[in-house]
Amino acid sequence: MFQSEYDVIVVGGGHAGAEATAAAANLGAKTLLVTMNLQTIGQMSCNPAMGGIAKGQIVREIDALGGYSGIITDKTAIQFKMLNQSKGPAMWSPRAQSDRMRFAEEWRLSLERTENVDFFQDMVKNLIIENGKVCGVITAMGMKIRSKSVVLTNGTFLNGLIHIGEKQFGGGRMGESAAFGITEQLVDLGFEAGRMKTGTPPRVDGRSIDYTKMVEQPGDENPSKFSYTNTPKLTKQRSCWITYTNQEVHDLLREGFDRSPMFNGTIKSTGPRYCPSIEDKINRFADKDRHQIFAEPEGWHTMEFYINGFSTSLPDDIQARALRSVPGFENAKILRPGYAIEYDYFPPTQLKHTLETKLIDNLYCAGQINGTTGYEEAASQGLMAGINAVLKIQGKNPFILNRNEAYIGVLIDDLITKGTEEPYRMFTSRAEYRILLRQDNADERLTRKSFELGLASEDRLRRMEEKFDKAEKLVNYFEENSIKPQEINDVIEEREGTPLKQPNKMISVISRPELKLSDFTKLDRVKEFIETNEYDQEELEQTEIQIKYKGYIKKEQQNADKLHRLENLKIPADIDYNVFGSMSIEARQKLTKIKPATVAQASRISGVSPADISVLLIYMGR
Ligand code: FAD
Repeated sequence: MFQSEYDVIVVGGGHAGAEATAAAANLGAKTLLVTMNLQTIGQMSCNPAMGGIAKGQIVREIDALGGYSGIITDKTAIQFKMLNQSKGPAMWSPRAQSDRMRFAEEWRLSLERTENVDFFQDMVKNLIIENGKVCGVITAMGMKIRSKSVVLTNGTFLNGLIHIGEKQFGGGRMGESAAFGITEQLVDLGFEAGRMKTGTPPRVDGRSIDYTKMVEQPGDENPSKFSYTNTPKLTKQRSCWITYTNQEVHDLLREGFDRSPMFNGTIKSTGPRYCPSIEDKINRFADKDRHQIFAEPEGWHTMEFYINGFSTSLPDDIQARALRSVPGFENAKILRPGYAIEYDYFPPTQLKHTLETKLIDNLYCAGQINGTTGYEEAASQGLMAGINAVLKIQGKNPFILNRNEAYIGVLIDDLITKGTEEPYRMFTSRAEYRILLRQDNADERLTRKSFELGLASEDRLRRMEEKFDKAEKLVNYFEENSIKPQEINDVIEEREGTPLKQPNKMISVISRPELKLSDFTKLDRVKEFIETNEYDQEELEQTEIQIKYKGYIKKEQQNADKLHRLENLKIPADIDYNVFGSMSIEARQKLTKIKPATVAQASRISGVSPADISVLLIYMGR
């Protein structure tokens, strides 16, 4: 059935697998996506939303690199919000609610439109391994398909076990079977495997919700979007709704604790700390008398609602009784109960920066299988694994992003250097240089790199260059032109600033904290300049960021450059740490296990002290 050898086989069509497939195929590799169900490519297992704090930046980075997640989100969004707009632009984070069904459909259509992609619906049970190198896969139906590399993106499916109260059954997601075989084979080959847990809330019939008891949460008035390409902006949106739990709800939930797999010891693995279940929340924060619940529509044309904040694996009768005590849900009809799922993952310290495994050549792992949680984290790893799988078979240098270049760089470096004992999700606080890693400049940081790889189109590169050229031109305009006190003092006084006494260069006045660029674009001559040069909103925002944050950006860039020097100090691959008697035993063990590629990476391993790094530097003649 499969006569020829593929360049890349991607196992699993979730967010990681879909991006890996797109990247590999767009780099010219003959790519096969083998997934258990062709109907669920790009399926959102949990929340129908992309982005959010730090995650939104990742989607922008994926987009700048030529991935599809941002484009698909824009095409299927039903609501858009730029979060954190009251804070500085380094913290702005785009988030969109998506139409769940349209999102998966659009992923499938996008991959079908991509050259070099073949599809096959089956479960991969085993890998073909020859001389320490992966050479293809064997499926449950017994197909042997050969390839030069394999990307594993099995998500929550490996030996997946679903829990609802005392009920337990095998599954990779509700209504879908679990996957078997791969864990056992990899463990036999010497890999370490672990178990993690995640959970999801009930879904409710929107016709049974009383919205008058909730507070409406509309989308942004002027919605932005994810992709730097010309995807459409939303012209209409659907609202979400907020309500709160109360003491009665908490008491009802507590009644189910002794039947809860979380508390009676049935679930032993660790769940995502920052997406706790409702039972976890009322247990851990017993002094809080209420928790926020969001009712989020699942699409344009469905009555199904996702009940964000009410993730639970309590028995279904308890779920229903407790939910019906939340204002607005008194008559709620539950369409699908919440549940928890346990699944296998492989500690990511077993991977290189390219996401290739250290043990088996040309075998890559991306997504939840690496211990992460979240669509964005998964998609970005899939993209990077897909790119690197192709670069390796083409005999080219790997594509690695540094921590000062992208959240994706931070994510992968954290995973392979520190590992993770609980589902890893991205936060802005994980990035040392978050003023550099903004959602507005992901294109500036990454598009040229992607173009040079052959992934981002020339059109993308041209758009990016035009945006930054225009911002520079406007900055120059403000540097060259002055403003008179009478033109701006009314605004300054209204905002309680110190009025100007004499004409000043516009640039130094815009930099004042009480003023905004929009205060200047109202002036006739500035307005004329902007209209003549056809500035759009994004270009104006970019100009403002460059003016207002110039000092911070410069300082952070200097710090990043310092780190980069250590990043360039490569450690020889055959180094034997055991000979360093003056290094701590813990450092020797960890360095031997993780095999850091650079001195900077070594310095980030927990348990490796600055003194240990000095020993290493002396050995390297520094
Ligand atoms: P998945 O999206 O799980 O996709 C895996 C794909 O691989 C599937 O298409 C599957 O069919 C296929 N597959 C698996 N094994 C094989 C095989 N052997 N052969 C062929 N195909 C195979 N994330 C959050 O950020 N917050 C949450 O609160 C949250 N809650 C969740 C709750 C539940 C119940 C679940 C299931 C997931 C939850 N997630 C949550 C996680 C989120 O869904 C994942 O992080 C994301 O989908 C991971 O993407 P992935 O591509 O790694 O895997």
